[in-house]
Amino acid sequence: MPSDSALRLVWIYPDLLSTYGDQGNVLVLEQRAQRRGIPVQTLYLRSSDPVPEGGDIYLIGGGEDRPQILASERLRRDGGLHRAIARGAALLAVCAGYQIMGTTFGGEEGQPVDGLGLIDISSGRGTSRAVGELAGEADPVLGIPTLTGFENHMGVTRLGPGVRPLARTTVGTGNGDGTEGCYVGKIVGTYLHGPALARNPGLADLLLSWAIGAQLPPIDDTWFERLRQERLAAVLPH
Ligand code: GLN
Repeated sequence: MPSDSALRLVWIYPDLLSTYGDQGNVLVLEQRAQRRGIPVQTLYLRSSDPVPEGGDIYLIGGGEDRPQILASERLRRDGGLHRAIARGAALLAVCAGYQIMGTTFGGEEGQPVDGLGLIDISSGRGTSRAVGELAGEADPVLGIPTLTGFENHMGVTRLGPGVRPLARTTVGTGNGDGTEGCYVGKIVGTYLHGPALARNPGLADLLLSWAIGAQLPPIDDTWFERLRQERLAAVLPH
């Protein structure tokens, strides 16, 4: 990111995919950047508009099956997100948005639907809906504390060999194989709602540091920590 310009956030298709307060991820990134003196410009990108290639961090949320299919078709046809990722932009993709980034995902009847193929994952239908709190130990390489959030999805996700799980699941279902989410390059996919970045400010700062190419100074996270401890205490064994 050039030092003289604002950090550019792109919130993809809030008219199609934005369940369970996922838009809060955008607000958390804005605030955490601004509290470090980094100016931010956010684009709320409707699904009728072309995807700009010049964003620094793209975000996409969860949603129902039909809007998920529509979002995948439009993003594939548009191609702007592919070009942005090829340029080195960061991406946070949640639940339906996460599934879309892979090669295929399960449609309304569980039929395979083409995804964007941006990451080597594929999703299908699980045997039952995963609903409730989700927690996991993040890959130690990432240097972030226990992940917390909640999930609500039918899909299960298989990761290809070049893609690493974001976390080892300790509570809930996540990908369905004892892992949760994934990361590859500057892309993070996750089943965490909460919103994910309000529950996990460490993940927010990881995305920001990827985008600006530098570590960020710590800020007062008293209130974030209270929320985290309260939610983790409710689900982790004592
Ligand atoms: N439709 C997808 C599933 O059920 C995604 C759901 C969601 O985004 N909450 O797996």
